[in-house]
Amino acid sequence: MKRIVLLRLGHRPERDKRITTHVGLTARMLGAEGMLLASDDPGIVQTLEDVVERWGGNFYIKNNVNFKQEIRGWKEEGGKVCHLSMYGVNLPDVTDELKKCDRLMIVVGAEKVPPEIYQLADWNVAVGSQPHSEVAAVAITMDRIAEKEPLEKEFSGAELKIIPAERGKHVIENIKE
Ligand code: SAM
Repeated sequence: MKRIVLLRLGHRPERDKRITTHVGLTARMLGAEGMLLASDDPGIVQTLEDVVERWGGNFYIKNNVNFKQEIRGWKEEGGKVCHLSMYGVNLPDVTDELKKCDRLMIVVGAEKVPPEIYQLADWNVAVGSQPHSEVAAVAITMDRIAEKEPLEKEFSGAELKIIPAERGKHVIENIKE
């Protein structure tokens, strides 16, 4: 897997701020290059860019995208699209296929997704056929299809770095070069 981008559909600024932020943070942490937000919420962009500034890496956030245009553009460049939905095929049955893909867009919804997404996607994938959370769906999928151990990823250009410790908090500050 070389490139992963996350497409967030259906974000409602008045009630989804926290969960959309967590979708973005989780995707970043597990190696996505960026998040496309198919709603207008500059506050989400600001929050995530602040995290990138402090914690490093090159994760980007694109606000208010047209999801059909983004999917079309991604596919024209040879990318594939994996829509996460509890109605899809179960993740363990397609993990090997997804792993072979070197440009993958992962799509998650909020309340209800536009029905055409089921046709636009190359895969509609269930992370178990029970309802749960888009954060969990992204986390489990990205962990299962990762090439390298995603929890050992280093982020370049960080101001802060945590040194894992058995007890207490060990943080190095001002390490940005
Ligand atoms: N009720 C909504 C529907 O019928 O589409 C689902 C709402 S759910 C809280 C929000 C998003 O989480 C979904 O659009 C999907 O992307 C993701 N999700 C929730 N459960 C999932 C599952 N079992 N497998 C894959 N994705 C899931």
